[in-house]
Amino acid sequence: MISRETLTEAIDAELNVSAFKDYTVNGLQIEGSETVTRVLSGVTACQALLDEAVAWQADAVLVHHGYFWKNEPVAITGMKQRRVSTLLKNGINLWAYHLPLDAHVTMGNNACLGRRLGLQAERCLDGELGKGLLWFGRPEEPLDSDMLASRVESTLGRRPTVVQGHTGEIERIAWCTGGAQDMLASAAEAGAQAFISGEISERTTHMAREMGVTYISAGHHATERDGVRELGEWIAARFGVEHRFVDIDNPA
Ligand SMILES: [Zn+2]
Repeated sequence: MISRETLTEAIDAELNVSAFKDYTVNGLQIEGSETVTRVLSGVTACQALLDEAVAWQADAVLVHHGYFWKNEPVAITGMKQRRVSTLLKNGINLWAYHLPLDAHVTMGNNACLGRRLGLQAERCLDGELGKGLLWFGRPEEPLDSDMLASRVESTLGRRPTVVQGHTGEIERIAWCTGGAQDMLASAAEAGAQAFISGEISERTTHMAREMGVTYISAGHHATERDGVRELGEWIAARFGVEHRFVDIDNPA
C-alpha cells in the first residue's frame, strides 16, 4: 500500500510532465482514495474500463486518454457524469498521461512501437528525444512497403490501411502513434520513405502519393496500447502495487 501523493509525484517526475504543453491535464485528474494497492490501466478512461476497475476493486485507473480536453464542453452531464460519478462513488483515482507518455524515451508509445517493429530510432523531428513526438530512424534490416505493412499487421494484430507512395527499399522511416497523419509532410521533408501513424484522412492519401512516401495507418488504439501498459508495469515493479492492463477493443 502506498500513498496516492507519492505515486503521483513519482509518475509526474518520471514522465517529465512539467516540460509539456498539452491540450489536457497530465497527472491526477480525479482524486480517489489516499492509498493505492491496485492499479488498472487501459488506453482510454471509457465506462467499460471503469466498470472493470470497479469489478477488480482497483483504487486507481491509469490511462493515456483521460478527460478535460481543451474545447470539450465543461459541464459534467450525461456520459461524462456517469464516468466521473463511477470514479468518485468508488474512491478510484484517475491518472491520465497524454503527450508525456507518447514521448518518453523507453516507456512511451513511440518508443514501444519502434521497438516492436524493429526500427532503430535516431532522433525526433520535432524536438529532442524524450520531448518530441515525431520519431525518425531506420529499419534494422532492409524491407519494402509490403513487408513493412505485413510486419505492422502481425505485430499489432490489426490490418493497417496502406497508401504505397514509395516503391523499392525503405531506408528511412518516421512514426508517430495516435492521430498524427498530418505530420506526413514533416516526415517527407526529413526524407522519410515511409511514415506510420494511427489514423488516416482523405487528404492523407493524396499527400502520400504526391510526396512519394508510403503511409501506413496502423490504428490509433492499436498504436497506443503499449505505453500505458509499460508505465503500469513500471509502477508495479517500483512500488509493489498490483497492476493489470485491460484492453477495451477499439477498431479505430
Ligand atoms: Zn491518442
